[in-house]
Amino acid sequence: MPHTPHSVLQKYFGYSTFRPMQEDIITSILEKKDTLVLMPTGGGKSLCFQIPAILKPGVCIVVSPLISLMKDQVDSLQANGVEANYLNSTQTPDEQDVIEAKAIKGTLDLLYVSPEKLVSQGFLHFLDRVQINMFAIDEAHCISSWGHDFRPEYTQLGRIREQFPDIPCIALTATADKMTRQDIIMQLGLVQPKICISSFDRPNISLSVLPGRGKLATIKEFVASHSEQSGIIYCLSRKSTEKVALSLRNSGYNAESYHAGMSAKQRETTQQRFIFGGIDIICATVAFGMGIDKPDVRWVIHHNLPKNIEAYYQEIGRAGRDGLPSKAVLFYSFADVMLLRDIIESSGQKDVQMTKLERMQHYADAVTCRRKILLTYFNESLAANCNNCDVCKNPPHVFDGTIITQKALSAIARLKESVGSQILIDVLRGSSRHEIISRGYHTIKTYGAGKDITPPYWEQYILQMLNTGLIHIAYDRGRTLSLTSLGRDVLLGKTQVSLVDAAHVAERTKTHRSRSARNTIISPQASQLFDELRKLRKDIAQEENKPAYIVFHDATLKELAETQPTSAEQMMRVGGIGQKKFEQYGALFLGKILEYLEKKEVVSV
Ligand code: ADP
Ligand code: ZN
Repeated sequence: MPHTPHSVLQKYFGYSTFRPMQEDIITSILEKKDTLVLMPTGGGKSLCFQIPAILKPGVCIVVSPLISLMKDQVDSLQANGVEANYLNSTQTPDEQDVIEAKAIKGTLDLLYVSPEKLVSQGFLHFLDRVQINMFAIDEAHCISSWGHDFRPEYTQLGRIREQFPDIPCIALTATADKMTRQDIIMQLGLVQPKICISSFDRPNISLSVLPGRGKLATIKEFVASHSEQSGIIYCLSRKSTEKVALSLRNSGYNAESYHAGMSAKQRETTQQRFIFGGIDIICATVAFGMGIDKPDVRWVIHHNLPKNIEAYYQEIGRAGRDGLPSKAVLFYSFADVMLLRDIIESSGQKDVQMTKLERMQHYADAVTCRRKILLTYFNESLAANCNNCDVCKNPPHVFDGTIITQKALSAIARLKESVGSQILIDVLRGSSRHEIISRGYHTIKTYGAGKDITPPYWEQYILQMLNTGLIHIAYDRGRTLSLTSLGRDVLLGKTQVSLVDAAHVAERTKTHRSRSARNTIISPQASQLFDELRKLRKDIAQEENKPAYIVFHDATLKELAETQPTSAEQMMRVGGIGQKKFEQYGALFLGKILEYLEKKEVVSV
């Protein structure tokens, strides 16, 4: 029987149904149309060109920006029995010759190369001898200087269109913005491309925001309840990546730092150990992530506020590529807002960046579904609330905060708009700190008027006043606070103010802790078998020197543990078990399941 997209999906990848959009994209490619694919990370872009590459005669040339990405994709494909390989500087000339010969002979389905390699004279000559069925440009946003991962080598790729005008070109990216999209089409010379944009929603990633206080303690509690799961902690500075990693190691966790100050070799080793499961937790600056195709990253924590939503969404997108429940936790503090504003002040494109930061704050301050806010930002709308963010699960309590706000505003005015938030809070709380008394601040009328509210709560309320435009911070004058005209109206009693109860935010932290204590990816009934299967997978991966997910994804182990197949036929129906994987590992896993069932029977008899 001739192969169809469905039979290839089943035979090589072990899945029985396509995800939304995949089939359309594959059809477009099979019709030899230029195609632009915009899909979020983990959406399943790779299959879209891999399946046509297997179906069509000839070789698909895949351009990929990083050696680690190429290697990961090729390893996965080979493990599934697909004829795929790459050419790069890690190979000897002899190894390269063998692969080139295969391409010429037509016994290769996919050949991965870097952009530099693709446009080199020698390689273009070589391609003349190969039957090419298509070019797939992965991470295509790298072509655009508008994007965040600009790579000058990508701008040369237009040359393939000149040399091979009749061969279809597929560009794939997870970056949605319009400017980048136009740039990709233009620079690659795509001809009337079919543009396939899938939803950017990642419903399996739960979203929550916590106050940026006592972060280390909260992180430790969090990782304690997510043992043996992979996670990333993004920090703003190199120093904090090291500090957080050290503190976690001192508490017995398997954590390492990663930042641009390390040597390329060190970074590579750390990244590989994370992929292979030797390190559970990476504390990194934003330098980390692009080369990571690891499907089982279960959580991403932002130790600091990111500077915009694009960056944030991309970073949390590294969690849960396998579609299993995953978590994104963001710590939000006043100090970070100030720091980011300082950074932006001293850089170019100030206005744009400030606006983007404000949108990020808007997300962190949300009193409505956070996912809706994210998707709205990407011009998408979600019909119902997501029920998988902290706001949905635990809606905030809003109260009439006019009097509290007036107290703060009045104190700011009486302090002649000359102090920052710390002193303001001390005055409101009636602190007898030396600085307060020596400056005579204890004599003003609002001194002590806010005694009943704790400093962290005051901090939150001031942040809310700032974000709703009642007060202004003079970043160029020692971060002193002043009233805006809206703030003056409130002080004069012309406008009412609603505040989100700070006690509620604290409560949310607690519920968050108790929720995270439960391991969410597997049901309690299946967890013992799941753990045994994980152990088996780990042993196999170690013996074969592969990352565990190349053997089977977590999603596959979960399904095995939950459905407990006892025959080859049942087992082949589990997602992620194609023909090759079944031949290779089927008996071992089946044996483990039978052993488990027998043990259970003995116990219950
Ligand atoms: P992307 O390149 O868009 O980040 P991938 O192609 O790496 O995403 O796919 C993400 C995950 O989804 C992989 O684990 C892949 O095996 C899985 N996947 C892709 N397509 C399907 C499908 N049709 N059914 C089930 N799982 C799929
Ligand atoms: Zn929600």
